Amino acid sequence: MGFWIYGERTEEGFHPVVLELVGVAQKIWPQPEEITVVTLGAEGARPVAEALRAYGVRVLWLHHPELSYFRDDLYAAVLAEKVRAFKPEVFLFGATSQGQALAPRLAGLLRLGLTAHCTALELKDDRLIQIRPSFGENVMAKIVSRTRPQMATVRPGVFPKAQPASVEGELIEEKLEFLPPSALKRRAVFSRPSKESPLSGARIVVAGGRGLLTKENFQKLFELAEILGGAVGATRPVCHMGWISEDHMIGVSGETVAPKLYIGFGISGALQHTVGIEGAEVVVAVNTDPEAPLMKRADIAVVGDATQILPRLIRRLREVKEGDHGT
Ligand SMILES: Cc1cc2nc3c(=O)[nH]c(=O)nc-3n(C[C@H](O)[C@H](O)[C@H](O)COP(=O)(O)OP(=O)(O)OC[C@H]3O[C@@H](n4cnc5c(N)ncnc54)[C@H](O)[C@@H]3O)c2cc1C
Repeated sequence: MGFWIYGERTEEGFHPVVLELVGVAQKIWPQPEEITVVTLGAEGARPVAEALRAYGVRVLWLHHPELSYFRDDLYAAVLAEKVRAFKPEVFLFGATSQGQALAPRLAGLLRLGLTAHCTALELKDDRLIQIRPSFGENVMAKIVSRTRPQMATVRPGVFPKAQPASVEGELIEEKLEFLPPSALKRRAVFSRPSKESPLSGARIVVAGGRGLLTKENFQKLFELAEILGGAVGATRPVCHMGWISEDHMIGVSGETVAPKLYIGFGISGALQHTVGIEGAEVVVAVNTDPEAPLMKRADIAVVGDATQILPRLIRRLREVKEGDHGT
C-alpha cells in the first residue's frame, strides 16, 4: 500500500484538503491503484468513507465506536499500528489543526522524520521531494526523508482538488476490536462560528505592502477591490503595523490565494509572500524598483510610485464604469 493520505473528517464530511492531497498523489505517484485514503471513525462515518471512493482511490476505513471523535493520542496509536503492518512509502496529512496535531504524534511514535507545511511535492525515483519555504531566508527548501514512510503535512489550498473518477475505488473496512487507551475524553462540544477568510475564493485580489507608505494609502485598496469585485490582501509587515487585520495576510503565515488576477502594490515579493500566490493566473506588480522579486515574477510589471498609481487607477476605472471613455 504505497501512498497514504490521512482522510480527515469534518462535521460536513471530509476536509477539502483530502481531495487536494488525492489530486497531487494522482499526479506524481506512478501506481494510482496504490493511493489509499485512511479514515477513522465510528459506524456513522461510513458515508464519508463511501464518498471518498468516488475519486478513484482505495479507502481504508478503520472503525470503532470510540473513534467517533478526534483524539490525537488514540488516532496516532491506531495509525501507528497500521503503518507498521502495511509499511506505506508515503503518508501525507493536511496542515490543518487536526493534521498538525496528529502527524507529529504519529511520527514521534514511529520515530520518523516529518516535514511540516509543504507547498510543493515532487517524486524522484521513490523519493518524495518535500518542498517548503525555509524559515527566514528567501529560498525554497527541498527536503527528503531518511525514514519510511516519508511523512509530510501539506498546506491546504495549494493543490487543485481531485475530480470524481469514472471507476470507484475499493473500500477496505476494518472493524477494530481493541483500542489502545486514550488519556483524552470529550466532556462537551462548543461550536465556534466558522470564520471564512475575506480572501477565500476571490477571483481578483488587490494586495498592498510597505511600499504604500501609509495606512491611508493602503485603505484605497478597498475602493479598488470594490470597483473590481475583488478582495484585499496584504503582506505580513503591513498587518503587523496595524494597517489591516491578519486574516488578510497572504503567504506562508497567512492565506493561500488562487485568483484570476492578483495586483501587488509596493510589495517586494519575498518568498514568504509569493508562496501564497502561486496559483494566481495573472500577476501584476507596481513597484518603484524594477529589480524587486515580484516585478521579476509578474506577468505585467509597472515601474512607478504605487501611492500615485493606485488613486489614478481608481479614478480611471470609475470613469470607465460611468461610461466616460475619454483620457
Ligand atoms: C518565518 C517568516 C514568515 C513570514 N511570513 C510571511 C507571510 O506569510 N506573508 C508575508 O507577506 N510576509 C511574510 N514574511 C515576511 C517576508 O519575509 C517579507 O519581509 C515581507 O513579505 C515584505 O513585505 P513588503 O513587501 O510589504 O515590504 P518590503 O519588503 O519592505 O517591500 C516594500 C517594497 O515596496 C517598494 N516601494 C517602496 N516605495 C514604493 C512606492 N512609493 N511605490 C511602489 N513601490 C514602492 C520597495 O521597492 C519594496 O520592493 C515572513 C517572514 C518570516 C521570517
